[in-house]
Amino acid sequence: MPLNDFQVCDHDLDPNTLTEYLKADALAVDTETMGLLPQRDRLCLVQLCNPEGKVTAVRITKGQTVAPNLKQLLEANNIIKVFHFARFDIATLRHNLGIEVNPVFCTKIASKLARTYTNRHGLKDVVQELEQVELDKSAQSSDWGNAVNLSEAQLSYAANDVRYLLSVKQKLIQILEREERWQLAQECFHVLPTLVSLDLLQFKDLFEH
Ligand code: MN
Repeated sequence: MPLNDFQVCDHDLDPNTLTEYLKADALAVDTETMGLLPQRDRLCLVQLCNPEGKVTAVRITKGQTVAPNLKQLLEANNIIKVFHFARFDIATLRHNLGIEVNPVFCTKIASKLARTYTNRHGLKDVVQELEQVELDKSAQSSDWGNAVNLSEAQLSYAANDVRYLLSVKQKLIQILEREERWQLAQECFHVLPTLVSLDLLQFKDLFEH
């Protein structure tokens, strides 16, 4: 896929890109935020990649509470949204933009169910093994809040975080089917929105004794 098929939008997807992405059966999605607590740390960037490898990064500004085109796309029930650790991205998209992402595939859950021979389930590890690609994560912990001045390194990092997810998804499904855990994986994906509701209400260990 062409590595230069990348664009940046402000506030929301432009209508042409929305139309193009609505034709996909699956989209890779990632977010960058100011930190790990959705209630405290605002959403800064939403990255998307379709099966053709077209990557878009949407810059979200401070105080922004809606993005109608993103909402339409991420709530479209005929498009599977693929994340790595969906639990976090679903929470931040819901908390910041009121988006109820659905349906969902999480490559981290899929990896944990499929790759039981390792405990390395970070995106970098999964992409390295399944795609033979070395991801540069050096921009992972950086200031994403200065949206108009994101560096080339940051944008390139942000794009690479979605570029391999759809291919990884297919490879993980093959293992899950072979090991007869595909049904279980789908049941896990199905409960993610409920888990996020509990997270946002700060319920911890609800299922513990
Ligand atoms: Mn990322």
